[in-house]
Amino acid sequence: MADTGVSPVEQAKAAGIKLLKEHAVIGGRRAPVGAKFIEVDNPSNGRVIGVIPDLEPADVQAAIQAAADAFPAWSKTPQVERAALMRKWAALIDENEIGLAALMATENGKPFEEAKGEVRYANSFIKWFAGVAESLHGESMESPTKGMTILSLKEPVGPAALIAPWNFPAAMITRKVGPAFAAGCTVVIKPAHQTPFTAIALVDLALEAGIPEGVINLVTGQPGAVGEVLTASPLIRKLSFTGSTPVGRTLMAQCAPTLKRLSMELGGAAPLVVFDDADIELAVAETIKGKFRNSGQTCVCPNRVYVQRGVYDAYLEGLTAAVSALKLGDAFEPDVKVGPLIDRKGLEKVKRHVAWAHEHGSKVTTGGTPARQEGLFYTPTVLAGGDDSLFREEETFGPVVPVFAFDTEEEAVTRCNSSDFGLASYFFTRDFDRTMRVARALEDGIVGMNTGLISNAAVPFGGVKQSGFGREGSLYGIDEYLSVKSVTLALK
Ligand code: NAP
Repeated sequence: MADTGVSPVEQAKAAGIKLLKEHAVIGGRRAPVGAKFIEVDNPSNGRVIGVIPDLEPADVQAAIQAAADAFPAWSKTPQVERAALMRKWAALIDENEIGLAALMATENGKPFEEAKGEVRYANSFIKWFAGVAESLHGESMESPTKGMTILSLKEPVGPAALIAPWNFPAAMITRKVGPAFAAGCTVVIKPAHQTPFTAIALVDLALEAGIPEGVINLVTGQPGAVGEVLTASPLIRKLSFTGSTPVGRTLMAQCAPTLKRLSMELGGAAPLVVFDDADIELAVAETIKGKFRNSGQTCVCPNRVYVQRGVYDAYLEGLTAAVSALKLGDAFEPDVKVGPLIDRKGLEKVKRHVAWAHEHGSKVTTGGTPARQEGLFYTPTVLAGGDDSLFREEETFGPVVPVFAFDTEEEAVTRCNSSDFGLASYFFTRDFDRTMRVARALEDGIVGMNTGLISNAAVPFGGVKQSGFGREGSLYGIDEYLSVKSVTLALK
């Protein structure tokens, strides 16, 4: 960063403010804030940072129409040309990394350094799927019927609605837009009301990169009303949703009359298991990485930790020391590792979970209280022992790790699988046979062995059971936006 006498943090904040735009994007037109708007605040200090349009259903219809009108040309654009435009977009995201990260840290509250990491992670999906676009191909085979050849052509499903949550304000958008563009789909994005500005900035950069008008649209407003228009429209052929399981169910039901293709990336209650033979230092370090990203507000955060009796004390002691050393604070303070909860509802949920655990036999080994009288900060917390039933069925979505002891591998696997959710799980061991046994036995879409970080552009990401269906990232991610047309050729 240039030496202007202004501190790097102040320069970053200024770069973020430059990118902060208060508009929706409808067919290339920037739709400004009108009489109705929604305020967006900074969870680190509660101050309003801007407003977004509270659109009318007719505006959402206009965005859908723009996506439908742009679809024929975009879907026929040669895939190398689409890939080249995606790479231009990715280059602009790289150039604006600092500003995007500052914007994200301001509206989401995640530490600035972590926000920079998310911008890179988000951009990796655009870059990865530009490569996938270039190598996209169908198949041909000889038919079992003599004299016939079968072609399997891959075609984009059509205009797609993409509804995203606030916890990864950039990555949850690009993990959908990347494969959608690679497949040839046009999109209407609905970001979360808490974190719209990162998404708007990304869309503006896409237009600046030359993504044609109408190919990328962004709508804001009341979620129920916007969702109803998107799901009811016959022009929208695909819905990709990331968010909570109850909202996922509602949207799925709303999509039934128009039979849309669906991807549902929903909630989780991930278990993390530490076996007697594990490297305990590693297990502690990886638990911290997995759990405290975004202040414990990720769908794949370990929600409950099971430790085999022989290493329980050593793990608990190590974890307690590591968690009590985590610095809590405003996203832009140096060395901060844990920020605020996203809103009052999030803070109240964390308080409820800790109180429930206390009533059901858990002991607090560190933390266990809100950090200040005011604000949304909760002290990083470790709970030991007690009842795990709440943590099997409800994600805490906060900086709290409940730790429970177990005796046998069979017991650990049973407790892991005793949940309606099936998104992610983690285990730590040095035994290869156990690795394969446990990895196969866990009822989750994503499993990490000896690591707390299980997502990048190459990983097929998605859940089973009440965590949803469909995969994002990886070579499978594009299939969610493609349909296969078979052409049978009866050749003479
Ligand atoms: P949420 O309340 O379900 O909201 C997610 C998105 O859906 C937001 O854009 C929200 O809009 C919108 N929405 C809410 N109600 C709607 C409706 N009736 N119709 C249409 N859209 C509607 O979830 P959240 O609290 O933002 O996110 C946290 C949840 O996401 C957690 O359960 C987490 O586990 C899950 N998650 C899953 C994954 C995954 O990959 N599986 C990744 C990240 C997060 P507003 O913001 O305007 O309300």
